[in-house]
Amino acid sequence: MSQPIFGYADLHMHTTASDGVQPVRDLLEYIAVHCRHLTAIAITDHNVLDASLWAYANKERYPFDIIPGVEVNSRDGHVLALWVTTPIPKHLSIRDTAAAIHEAGGLAVLAHPFHLELKEVRKNVWRYWNTFRGLKDAGLDAIETINAGLVTPGSNRYAAWLAQRAGLAVTGRSDAHTPGAIGAGITRYAGQSGDDLRQALIAGTTQAEGSRWPLKEYVVFLKHVRQSKAMPSLVTRPSSIPPTPSPSPLSNE
Ligand SMILES: [Zn+2]
Ligand SMILES: [Zn+2]
Repeated sequence: MSQPIFGYADLHMHTTASDGVQPVRDLLEYIAVHCRHLTAIAITDHNVLDASLWAYANKERYPFDIIPGVEVNSRDGHVLALWVTTPIPKHLSIRDTAAAIHEAGGLAVLAHPFHLELKEVRKNVWRYWNTFRGLKDAGLDAIETINAGLVTPGSNRYAAWLAQRAGLAVTGRSDAHTPGAIGAGITRYAGQSGDDLRQALIAGTTQAEGSRWPLKEYVVFLKHVRQSKAMPSLVTRPSSIPPTPSPSPLSNE
């Protein structure tokens, strides 16, 4: 019997459209050359789709599948909206955020539930911990159980515990803000395409793998944050998006 073929996806990374260091085109070209093991990726800037939609519109140019997405600031923490091409409102409850994502045709993944350095996440930690069953009822499809950028000891282990107790699929992702961190966290799934990945998430058969960003990437990112002090960390810079080719593949879907 033939062995199943596995794909490897990194579904959480940032460009200069939010607080990453690389413009979208540079980032995609970097992945094509340096991350050949990745079969699917999603660019998930904070609350802006511009770079992700540009990547999605240009996906035929790259040797990996590109899933459109965005990292949404909900009232109850960060939620990754995957397979969405329309904006998802900020500052809703998790339940309403998940509903908006499903309405837009996407899947909702709770990002880094134990990222204690983030105030908006920290204030929800006890709620996640005490009401884990409610996460599935709220409409979440998966939980990020490996976030390679986290430095708080135990944060990924607790996230894995949470996903298990909540009965939700798991994802591993880099949350890369610098190119060298891409692929540090990955989601392993049966198949190769983005559609295979979506099916695996729905079936709950994904596996989360990876560890931490290489040390150098923390240094590069912190330097970038310091240099960007003049702008808020989540400011958007649409000018970093190359012109979208016309006609856009998005208009057909
Ligand atoms: Zn986040
Ligand atoms: Zn992020």
